Amino acid sequence: MEQDKTNKIIHKFAIKNAYEYGSARLESVLGKVITAEPQLKLDMAALVGMIKKEVERVNLLNKEQIALEAGQFADEFKSSDAERAKRSAEHNFSIKGATKGEFITRFPPEPGGYMHIGHAKAVYIESVLKEQYSGKLMLYFDDTNPDIERQEYVDAFREDLLWLGIKFDREYFGSDSIPILYKYAQTAIANNHAYVCTCDQEKIKSLRLQGIGCEHKAQNADSNIEMWEQMLENKFGAGEAVVRLNSDISSVNTMMRDPTLFRIKTTPHYRQKDKYVVWPTYDFGTPIIDSMNNISDVIRGKEYEMRDPLYFAVLDMLSLKRPRITSFAELDIENNITSKRIIREMIAQGKISGWDDPRLVTIRALKRRGIISEAIKEFSLRSGMGKSESTTSIDALLSINKRLLIKTAQSISAIKNPIILNLTGASQSNIANGIVFDANNHAALWVDLNEIQSLKLSTKSIAVLKRSLPIKINGISNRQIDASVEGAAPVGAATIDWIGEGIECEMWEIGNLMNKDEFNNKSIVKHRAIISEDAAKLAKGEVINIKGIGLYCIDSTDPIRLISL
Ligand SMILES: [Zn+2]
Repeated sequence: MEQDKTNKIIHKFAIKNAYEYGSARLESVLGKVITAEPQLKLDMAALVGMIKKEVERVNLLNKEQIALEAGQFADEFKSSDAERAKRSAEHNFSIKGATKGEFITRFPPEPGGYMHIGHAKAVYIESVLKEQYSGKLMLYFDDTNPDIERQEYVDAFREDLLWLGIKFDREYFGSDSIPILYKYAQTAIANNHAYVCTCDQEKIKSLRLQGIGCEHKAQNADSNIEMWEQMLENKFGAGEAVVRLNSDISSVNTMMRDPTLFRIKTTPHYRQKDKYVVWPTYDFGTPIIDSMNNISDVIRGKEYEMRDPLYFAVLDMLSLKRPRITSFAELDIENNITSKRIIREMIAQGKISGWDDPRLVTIRALKRRGIISEAIKEFSLRSGMGKSESTTSIDALLSINKRLLIKTAQSISAIKNPIILNLTGASQSNIANGIVFDANNHAALWVDLNEIQSLKLSTKSIAVLKRSLPIKINGISNRQIDASVEGAAPVGAATIDWIGEGIECEMWEIGNLMNKDEFNNKSIVKHRAIISEDAAKLAKGEVINIKGIGLYCIDSTDPIRLISL
């Protein structure tokens, strides 16, 4: 085989390896190359030498450069990714015992915050299973905590789910079933399966830890019914009485130690207004509402596994049909936060600007940043339905997005750390090289300070302006460069990127929100930059490829603000 062709194959697999895993490994690339072209094994020593050289070269490239080189193989990469996605669908997306046509599941968000990437994983898995089993997918708003739920969040979930391309067969709200849940509570209390407890939270917590029941556990059904009615009649204040499951208070599974089934909350509800003061907990409401809606399969995060026995206990004591529960490992994004409570705190403290702050992994933040729904889908499904936990870097999502967009993103020039280069000495013969000189044969161009520094240019250096003229540096500082047009440049002279006429813009480089448990103060780095005039035609939300730098999303057009991807 010709050397050239061999080099090309090595190049392709090295870039692919680096694109997928961040860096290329000699063994992996060697394996791929030999599988593709077995005859190359004949001269193993030469092959290993060539691969080693290419792997070393690729590992010196930065992420953007790797993505750009990978762009030329986009079609091949895409098809192999598609195959992998198909394989993983065949292997992992199945449920033991599930049958075609009898599968009904639901996506159960609580409208107490905005949708995030973890929700996306759950709903995409459910949606794939629905297709696979010709089943149904319901949207169930689990809204029985008036303290934190709002219509704004319901609307946002609907909007984000639509944007993600998820279709539901029906939508319902937990809070619409409160009267039915009251009836089931009445039955449970009458049968001694539950009791009313007026102990304070501290006492309940401490006794629960010790595995000891309070005095109310032994109360008879008549007293419990009476107290339950008083709860409904608003005779207790918020937090003064709860209904608890009469279970095994010393159970090894602490979830089973007489958990709370109903509590009093006097905050008006966004949907039911002030209709109710007694509210069911997730543990009581969800299993009953699932059963009432003929849900055959509950697909939920592994972190709920400890609650499975409680889920079934509630159904069993009321003789309701059990759905099947399947757990999967939830997405855990490294150095990021999905907790509604912590996000709310960070917004209040001014650390982040809102739920769509581009450092977050809420769906609106990802959308604002220029990540498309197809990338979120692929990323969500890639991690599969397995139960083994692992943290995933946001970079994996960004690189899928890059692969999907790099071919269509418009290429635009920009100078990231702009300083002026004053150029003099042009003659009529070299004016036509893209630089606009004024009447005094002077032009002011934008060049990148970092590039100038890394090229180690100094006074008297000769360099070449990219696609244009050789120049001689006459004076150089961190604020300005003075140069004049030069007749010719020596072989190997440094080339400098530049923009003639540009628009001032702001570039945001987005990093990780957190540094382990600490807020990362450098999670957004803002630059003043100069972008070529073509940028004036761009629309908000458009993704562009800044030559030599990488992908950015237009966050605002006036003034122009770009967010790194
Ligand atoms: Zn008690």
